[in-house]
Amino acid sequence: GLVSGIKAGMNGVIKKALQGYVGFANLPNQVHRKSVKKGFHFTVMIVGESGLGKSTLVNTLFGTTLYPKKDNVEPTDETPKTVEIQSLSAEIEENGVKLRLTVVDTPGFGDFVNNEESWKPILDNIEARFDAYLEQENRVNRRKMVDNRVHACIYFIAPTGHSLKPLDVEFMRRLHTKVNLIPVIAKSDTLTEDEIKQFKQRILDDIKFHNIQIYQAPQYEYDDPETIAENKEIINKIPFAIVGSDREVERDDGKKVRGRKYPWGVIEVDNPDHCDFVKLRQMLIRTHMEELKEYTSDVLYENYRSEKLESMGVQQDPTVFKEVNPLAKMEEERQLHEVKLQKMENEMKSVFQQKVAEKESKLKQTKKKGFSFNK
Ligand code: GDP
Repeated sequence: GLVSGIKAGMNGVIKKALQGYVGFANLPNQVHRKSVKKGFHFTVMIVGESGLGKSTLVNTLFGTTLYPKKDNVEPTDETPKTVEIQSLSAEIEENGVKLRLTVVDTPGFGDFVNNEESWKPILDNIEARFDAYLEQENRVNRRKMVDNRVHACIYFIAPTGHSLKPLDVEFMRRLHTKVNLIPVIAKSDTLTEDEIKQFKQRILDDIKFHNIQIYQAPQYEYDDPETIAENKEIINKIPFAIVGSDREVERDDGKKVRGRKYPWGVIEVDNPDHCDFVKLRQMLIRTHMEELKEYTSDVLYENYRSEKLESMGVQQDPTVFKEVNPLAKMEEERQLHEVKLQKMENEMKSVFQQKVAEKESKLKQTKKKGFSFNK
């Protein structure tokens, strides 16, 4: 699988020149001057059985050969017996804007005789990344926070045309509260247009039936009509029907395009009439990158953290969350956060004692000022 390909670059950041348009340098909905200056950092996880075109898609998505071609790679004794987690970082640059991209790959998923626990190492990895972030938040010096949390998980569904497999359902059920799930139909060029339409509906029905929460891109009324329309179009395509190719093929008219050639014609990766690849890329890189990061941080991570704190015996008063107005609520959450931190730190041993004292005095000062946001 991807193992051999990734090892080369596992420990360092590879600089890559772009071979085509990607779109992150032009970010109508997410122009954050700071991000443009410092560059973006985005972590995406790729999950699906081997052979579904995961590495091809990553290469296609970022217009660069992140994964070396791995034709003729035979399984060896080294073939892992469990799901492995491998992470690869690359810095790509477009029009002077940098994107530090981390791809977390999960070779072995679904490839064993017994795949019952295939989701487990993946869940563990996502939670370990949350833990690493939580640990940094508890430090006094929070200036150099490193965010290695997974911002999106592209889940590859085999193009069976039937419905989700038990493995798909199990994975999504286990992970949906921990990561932004973006399901895609792999190798959709193997299905007809009608089959794709029906397959998509069945997948969505299955997802609904099993109460699975896939990523819901938010809609904002204050966006301009063009953006709203663009977003709607993207969202309506989920689960994206994907075709990947890192090769150029020649169309009947002689033009060379990224695509796959068939006796009856060429399927073009970058043609929205042929597949949803462009829509997936738009969502991931152009329109929803910041949203995916925010949702990861504000909802998925927050929930993880409060559950963790609760399991450590830190009680929360559910009535505190009564909604008054957004500002008050934010302040409430901030205070709650301070309290949580304080309590947690109290449980930690001597190393943290000094820090705890600092936090306490800070909190006391806030209270002295007479702020009360709980009504
Ligand atoms: P991975 O094991 O999931 O990373 O899959 P690869 O990206 O290595 O692809 C496995 C094989 O499927 C390769 O021969 C690819 O050329 C082919 N492939 C990749 N994407 C597509 C696609 O969208 N459609 C078709 N028909 N084949 C694809």
